[in-house]
Amino acid sequence: MQQAKKDIRALTKEQLREFFVSNGDKAFRGNQVYEWLWSKGAHTFEEMTNLSKQTRQKLQEGFAINHIKVDQMQRSNDGTIKNAVRLHDGLVVESVLIPTPTRTTACVSSQVGCSLDCKFCATAKLKRMRNLNPDEVYDQVVAIDRQSRLYYDRPLSNIVFMGMGEPLMNYNNVLKAIDKITSPEGLGMSPRRITVSTSGVPKMIKKMADDGVRFKLAVSLHSAIDEVRTAIMPFNENFPLQDLRQALQYWYAKTKSLITYEYVVWKGINDTKAHVDALVRFCKFAPSKVNLIQYNAIGDDAFQQADEEAIQLYQDILQKNNITVTIRRSRGQDIDAACGQLANKENGQVIT
Ligand code: SAH
Repeated sequence: MQQAKKDIRALTKEQLREFFVSNGDKAFRGNQVYEWLWSKGAHTFEEMTNLSKQTRQKLQEGFAINHIKVDQMQRSNDGTIKNAVRLHDGLVVESVLIPTPTRTTACVSSQVGCSLDCKFCATAKLKRMRNLNPDEVYDQVVAIDRQSRLYYDRPLSNIVFMGMGEPLMNYNNVLKAIDKITSPEGLGMSPRRITVSTSGVPKMIKKMADDGVRFKLAVSLHSAIDEVRTAIMPFNENFPLQDLRQALQYWYAKTKSLITYEYVVWKGINDTKAHVDALVRFCKFAPSKVNLIQYNAIGDDAFQQADEEAIQLYQDILQKNNITVTIRRSRGQDIDAACGQLANKENGQVIT
């Protein structure tokens, strides 16, 4: 089998400049190629018409341009669009466009499958197959920006890393993608419109704070009681709430950026007052708000959306304690595009 060519989009502008210099050409050719790749979104070397035929040939021999391909697009009754995104090696991830009257949010994937094993999440059943490259993350965003302009007549306004995968287990690539998304040479978006959602990896939360990142942080908490959290999110055994709490306090001290806790209330799992009280205590460790997410069934009877009364109980007690609480209704459920439902059903990669 022919050896895979190096992906030219993995090179920085400086590396591209060096490539040309070491091949006896001018450094500014590197800038030209960079512009073709990132500002003009070129898919082939043929398109790079300000380079000589010879140069294009040389690039073609040495490199590949690994673009993602939106294989399948499904549109929900509520306007949500789910994309099945094929990567250069044939693997598939999913990304979702979520429209509201005033904004368009892209929900993007960071890994093929997921390294974690949350019992209520369809993606967890796929296991982790590989991390996405920075450009594979970036391309999902560009594709959704295009769809937003096409179908909703406005650019993409927000990005959430709540698709497949655990972004903090692919931190370097996610950071590189965000750099490009926020840089004027990429999409020029404000980092305050980007939210990275994590199941809560304490040492990586501290690292983010040290790195001075400017995007927002959401943590999938689901329970503030260790035994309960470990039962539904087994990695909590290794990263207990005490460690998470310290990391979040560190995060807030360094960034002054409010934390959002994502939280699903399930029948018989976390739907009584003791659970709400534990959440209230946890919320007081660092400035935060709570987003109650509706559960999206993934075909496991152990998990069922709690009754309205339980949701009301959470809402009342949190509000009484001056903790902001929002309720997020599901979008795109009819096409399996809602939180935790991303699992490549069409491709037969998961059997549920
Ligand atoms: N790994 C990251 C991001 C992906 S999951 C994280 O854990 O935050 C995005 C959100 O969907 C998380 O809050 C997750 O807990 C939640 N989620 C997973 N499965 C779900 C389901 N079946 N119904 C509702 N929310 C779910």
